[in-house]
Parts: sequence; structure tokens; C-alpha cells
Amino acid sequence: MSFVLRNSKLYTTRRNREGFGDNRIRMASASRDRVSNIRTKGPAVKVGPAASIWIGGSAAASRFAFGFGAHLSLRRMLFVTSETHVIVNLSTENMATPISKASTPITVAHGDGIGPEIMGATLHILKEAGARLEIETIEVGEKVYLSGNTSGILPSAWESLRRTKVFLKAPITTPQGGGYKSLNVTTRKMLGLYANIRPCVSYHPFVRTKHPVMDVVIVRENEEDLYAGIEYQTSPDEMQALKVITRPGSEKIIRYAFEYARKYNRKKVTCFTKDNILKMTDGMFHKIFDEISPEYPEIEKEHWIVDIGAAKLADTPEAFDVVVMPNLYGDVLSDVAAQIAGSVGLAGSSNIGDQCAMFEAIHGSAPRRAGQNMANPSGLLQGAILMLVHINQIDVAERVQNAWLRTMEDGIHTYDIFTEGKSRQKAGTKEFAEAVVARLGQKPEQLKAVHYSAAATVKRPIAVRPAPKKDLVGVDVYVEWPSKIANDLAGKIKAANGDGLSLEMIANRGVKVWPDGSPETFCTDAFRCRFMGSGVTPKQVIALQQRISDLGLEIAMTENLRNYDGKPGFTLAQGQ
Ligand code: NAD
Repeated sequence: MSFVLRNSKLYTTRRNREGFGDNRIRMASASRDRVSNIRTKGPAVKVGPAASIWIGGSAAASRFAFGFGAHLSLRRMLFVTSETHVIVNLSTENMATPISKASTPITVAHGDGIGPEIMGATLHILKEAGARLEIETIEVGEKVYLSGNTSGILPSAWESLRRTKVFLKAPITTPQGGGYKSLNVTTRKMLGLYANIRPCVSYHPFVRTKHPVMDVVIVRENEEDLYAGIEYQTSPDEMQALKVITRPGSEKIIRYAFEYARKYNRKKVTCFTKDNILKMTDGMFHKIFDEISPEYPEIEKEHWIVDIGAAKLADTPEAFDVVVMPNLYGDVLSDVAAQIAGSVGLAGSSNIGDQCAMFEAIHGSAPRRAGQNMANPSGLLQGAILMLVHINQIDVAERVQNAWLRTMEDGIHTYDIFTEGKSRQKAGTKEFAEAVVARLGQKPEQLKAVHYSAAATVKRPIAVRPAPKKDLVGVDVYVEWPSKIANDLAGKIKAANGDGLSLEMIANRGVKVWPDGSPETFCTDAFRCRFMGSGVTPKQVIALQQRISDLGLEIAMTENLRNYDGKPGFTLAQGQ
């Protein structure tokens, strides 16, 4: 059999030859076929003795003596065989990425509330640490919102972000009340920042925590889920929000979590979903986790239903390492994780995309603390350190983080983490920054000093799969029915039956209320009427809507029902 490299899913990086010995190519596939030949469309791949190929996604993996030599290393390839799609990963542990000595352009926003103070402190520390940065400053947030721009960001700011592709952002204030869109969500989505990485670490015994050995990284999907922000009012009684989970979006974030774990020598990746209830959306996220995880045989994996997983995370965070989850759970649980580690004021985060990245503190603009030289700049500083790693200034990142750890150890603490008897000096924002600067070049004595390797640049092949066979089999028609009595609605809307489509079920808030509804079920005025048929055409669906409308019923929305490869692409109603 020969494997043919399709598309340009071939990533090459230079690296030193010493790294070769430990690199392996792992091939995740149900197939156990022998590899007899590898052809690429790109540069020739020499086969050498050092590396090995693993075939087989299970414990029964087979090993073959293949390897890659010369000056090229293959990090990942997508091979397509006649029977199966096979993704090949080359582990990157020993890749040597050179420290960047060049100056890196970055875009900086000073934000609102405490933002300007903590950004001032952070930039001061970076400058004194020798960060090689060319800073472009943009205005975002409250001022821009209040000038009438509901997105909180001006077109010229996008130009800067697209130019530098690296954004260090202080927190901003979203004005209360109508119309203002969250700038954070907008930025993440406009720039395709699909991965939100939030390391939550405790600094026991220097910062008070109930969890002395906590070191958890939350990998949160950043673009989808309820944060798609697609909401409708479907009747006077009912609002709806769409939870959007896609296969490529889930593959991207789950693969990122595993690549991150591999890059940073993390031992376990845990997935949280609520797929016992959300069988299609969270169900797919979980399924993709199960599909991708065998490609990383050296990493332990587990899945928890999010409610018990969250309880366990809050109770026993030391049992977790990297935790990947859809957007909403990740947003909530990363704040919980940061707070139980010590304080939300200590955590930074990165938002990573294929082209751009944004770095920030996880907390907000704390307007009540603004202008008082009180705020802790550590969260933003941690975000800035993640940025330095991202732009390969790991020498500076190490200097800053080790000096910051030493400052923590020396008991120089801002008010939010100051503990009488434990802390030595209550410092303002500026004094804290000076204390970190004074310790540049020093290392912590009790806390573990950091040593960074280059950023986990994750190239992610999205599995190519044949388009499924689609069959239109019906339509859900949402109508308003002010009397709220399902049987009456059924009596009326059944008159629209015909032309291959007939009423099968009516649901209210997800539960079946006709036929044979439960008399105890509470109903609102928004009903979902399911019409089914076989071999249905779009024309029949439109004609049905016309007939329903002619009955004097108001249609709020419709959702076509399709089977994909014979499997329903819709759920049954509860009780159906
Ligand atoms: P917040 O995180 O700003 O503040 C909550 C409390 O935490 C503060 O009152 C303060 O006691 C404490 N705190 C937060 N950061 C601190 C720091 N660095 N040092 C010391 N104490 C700190 O949350 P909030 O009050 O709910 O939100 C205020 C504003 O921030 C809102 O307009 C909100 O929309 C915005 N916000 C922005 C971001 C962001 O820009 N990434 C994130 C969250 C909230």
C-alpha cells in the first residue's frame, strides 16, 4: 500500500539533529496496514533509522522502522489511504526553536478602570527586563463605546491588529445597558482566536489557597457555543439562544489541548461536556475528543460530565492537568479555577488563533479600584509573559516570571492577596512593579523557577471526510399560540397536513405536549410543530409553511429536519 500526501498538510520546521532520536511518528488509525512507501508532493522525505512509525489507534499499535532524516522534520501529515483517513503526528518535544532576538511589533490597549495602571506597571517591567517590542497603541473600550461605536473598537485599531498580529490588552469596561457588544468576544471571533488558554497555579505558602499543589491549565473553546450570540424572541413568552458547536471548531480546540499537553510535558487531558443532556452538540465534542485522543498515546485522557467534573475541579484540582471544554463551561470554570488557586487577580490568559493572538488578565476593569494605585498588575503581567513565550522571547519571559515569583516569595503583595502575618509589605501597583524590576535576574528560592521552551505552535490538520448523504425528512415549525392549549393548536394546524408532510408531534420548551401530552406539563405560548414525511423536497416544506400561514397562524421560525448518512440530524422531543 502506498500513502499519498494530499493537500498541503505538510509542515516542516528546521531543528537540530540531536533532537532526532526521540521523535516518533504516531499514526492514529483503525488500520494496521504496513507502510511500504511514502510519497510526498513536497520535498523528498528521506527515510532514516532513527525514528519510528506507529500504526494503529489502539493498544495493539504496530511499530515500523521508518524515520525522517536530513534537515527537514515532518511535524504532521494527513495521509489518505483507500480505506481510511490517517493523521500522522510527529512529536515535537525536542524541536529547538531559536529565541527571537528581533524586535517584535505588538499592539497595546491600555483599557479602562484599573487598565491604564496595570498596563503601565506591566510595560515598565517588560521594558526593564529587556523585552524587544515595538509598541503600537490603540484605543478600545468605554471611550469608543460612548462615542457611539457599539463595537468598542475603531477601524484603525483593526488595521494595527492585523499588522502586528499580537495584542496585549488591559481590561475594558462594557457600559451597562443596551446595544454594546462585548469587545472581547468580538475580537476573539474577528481574529479567529479559537483557543483560550488559562493557566491556574497556586503559589503556596506565599498566597493563601486551600489547594497548595494546584497547577491546572484550562483550554477553553473561544468562538462557538452560546457565545455565538445568536438569540431570538420567538413569542411574547420565549427567548432562545443557539448553542453552536461545529466539527472543525471542536477538532481545532481538542487537538490544541493535546498539542499543548505534549509540548509542555503535561500528563493528562480531561474533557468536560454535558453530553448526557446535549447529545448532539456536546455529544459531538466528546466524540471528537475520543477520536483525537488515541493520536496521543503517551497522554492520559478522561471525560467528566461538566457538573460533577466542576465539583471535582473545585474540590480536588490537583487531580487535573489540562482540561478542555466548550466555551461557556470554560469561561465559568476558568474563573473558579483561578480564584481557588489564589485570586482572579493573579491569572493571565492567551487567546490563540492561526494568525493572531491576544493576551490579557482574566479579570475585568474593577472600576471601583481605578486611579488609586491599588490594583494587582500580576494577571496582566502573566498574560504578557504568555505573550513573550508566544513571540519566542523566552529569555525575557523567564526573567520576568522568575523575578515575579521571587517578589511573591518575598511577601511583597498588593492588597488583594496581602495576608497579615504572611505578607511582608503591602505594595501599591507601582511599588509592586518596582519590586519585580528590582528582582530581575533573581530566581525564586522555594517556588519552582520556570524554564520555558518555545511556544506550542499548533498546526492542526482538520480531518478530511467525504460529504455525508443528506435527506430532508421534515420540518419543525415554531408558532405562537396565545391560548397555550396544545390540543387546540393540533386541531387547527393539522389542517395543513398534505403533499407528503403531516404533523407528527408538538412540543413546548422541548417536551412533547401532543399527542398524549402530560396534563401536568406547563406550557408557554411558543410551540414547535414537527411535520415529517419521506423524500421531502424544499418546495414541499415551503408550501407547508404557506398552508400554515393561510390558517392564520404566525410562524416565528422553522428548522429543516435532515438525516445525515441515514442518522437523524435532530433530536426527539423529551417524552417523544
Ligand atoms: P472585575 O474583575 O473587574 O472586578 C471584580 C472585583 O475583583 C473588583 O471589584 C476587585 O475587588 C477585584 N479585582 C479584579 N481585578 C483586580 C486586580 N487586578 N487587583 C485587585 N483586585 C482586583 O469584575 P466586574 O466588577 O464584574 O467587572 C467590571 C467591568 O469589567 C465590567 O464592565 C465588565 O464588563 C468588565 N470586564 C472586562 C473584562 C475584560 O476586559 N477582559 C473581563 C471581565 C469583565
